[in-house]
Amino acid sequence: MANEPEPFSEKLRVPEALTFDDVLLRPKESRVEPDEADTTTRVSTNVTLNVPVLSAAMDTVTESDLAIAMARHGGLGVLHQNMDVDQMVAEIERVKRADELIIRDVVTAEPDQTVREVDEMMSRQGVSGAPVVDEDDEVLGIISGTDIRPYLEVGEEDQVSEAMTDEVITAGEDVTPREALELMYEHKIERVPIVDDDDRLIGLVTMQGILQRREYDQAARDEDGRPIAGAAVGPFEVDRAEAADEAGVDVLFIDCAHAHNLNVIESAREIKETVDADVVVGNIGTREAAEDVVDFADGVKVGIGPGSICTTRVVTGAGMPQITAVSQVADVASQHDVPVIADGGIRYSGDAIKAIAAGADAVMLGSYFAGTDEAPGRVITMNGKKYKQYRGMGSVGAMSEGSGERYLKEEEEDEEFVPEGVEAATPYKGPLADELHQLVGGMQSGMGYVGAETIPEFKERAEFVRVSAAGQQESHPHDVMITDEAPNYSPDDA
Ligand code: 5GP
Repeated sequence: MANEPEPFSEKLRVPEALTFDDVLLRPKESRVEPDEADTTTRVSTNVTLNVPVLSAAMDTVTESDLAIAMARHGGLGVLHQNMDVDQMVAEIERVKRADELIIRDVVTAEPDQTVREVDEMMSRQGVSGAPVVDEDDEVLGIISGTDIRPYLEVGEEDQVSEAMTDEVITAGEDVTPREALELMYEHKIERVPIVDDDDRLIGLVTMQGILQRREYDQAARDEDGRPIAGAAVGPFEVDRAEAADEAGVDVLFIDCAHAHNLNVIESAREIKETVDADVVVGNIGTREAAEDVVDFADGVKVGIGPGSICTTRVVTGAGMPQITAVSQVADVASQHDVPVIADGGIRYSGDAIKAIAAGADAVMLGSYFAGTDEAPGRVITMNGKKYKQYRGMGSVGAMSEGSGERYLKEEEEDEEFVPEGVEAATPYKGPLADELHQLVGGMQSGMGYVGAETIPEFKERAEFVRVSAAGQQESHPHDVMITDEAPNYSPDDA
């Protein structure tokens, strides 16, 4: 008998899942100029962002410096969980206080210190003036760079009490920014010590602080005007969640590589019941997982294996290409009015806006921000190029510092971790503000091509076309040698 072809196995009748490079946005009629596109979005039930962008909860990406910068520019930084609970509380408080009118942690001088000592102290602490206080914190005077410049005939060894200005203008704790500025203009001063009823120093208001606050007109703030903060907690860390909540975190992220684990979902429910903060549950990547969390979660985060430093798909054989994952989860979440965050795999602004087109309300990025000044870690130079460290939270290095629970793994003595991520380096990029500007600007241009003025409208109007391998090749610069690097494109990221 002639060779008959094997009947097709049912197991191999499988659906296809797509990711960023498989699709493009279909251009549509438009009157929207990119700069006018409004990127306001909801990241969770009660928290709104001015730009739809989050920084990843990774120990080489988000600590308080980066979280402050993210909030000041309209997004949300999610603090990582590889720190003890006290440290996390301190980090959350630092973010929440970043733009406080009254600085509480004031650098002070004592009257019997020498001018030289105070000068050195001020430059070490990066301040240009300091209130002078006695041992009871009573304000005796104020000393600034101008008081101690050599031409004012003050000797380096003179006492601060001789060089300081002793007619100090102070204000009470209830001072408003406008009142503080008026005092400063009237008396030609740049800082006003804040005192209690007994004239004891409790804080300081500076002109620089007030002006800086005005500069961040796009900032994402809570109802008291403080920057918003996010923090990741392990799926079973109820104590950490409660501590973060008490510290004033706005959004808690139940941070797990596979949140469709039913034990994780039970614990997340318990955490949701004990905290005031919004609770985002992730990561998930399918419709069924979304169905199991949308009844209690304030947001869902999507991404099983798309991350740049992630090896989940090759190590475990499991995963879901990100555009399909986002669209499946969004199909369910949108029915319940639960915001969706697309987490991982975003290399370009085009990927970010495609994730929104697939149904996400906001995107989370790790590698994109790991090379910025505000990310933790030093700049290292290799072969004349500058880099910063970037590692997966499922890498051996990160897991041995605490993030094992994200991967539902516990450290066993004498046993090596089975990692799901790598340790790497990423090009150094400079200030976060510049990177975010390119990212959001590119996303707004995408909204312009689709003719949508707002994120909800964009999600409605956006349609995809499928891209062939040849189409994909055509999308990138081709047949040329790039001579000047663009601020938003590097062939290395492709
Ligand atoms: P990126 O923006 O670099 O492509 O991806 C960042 C995201 O990857 C993070 O927000 C997080 O969800 C995920 N991630 C971080 N570290 C690891 C890891 O070691 N393994 C896996 N599977 N995912 C990771």
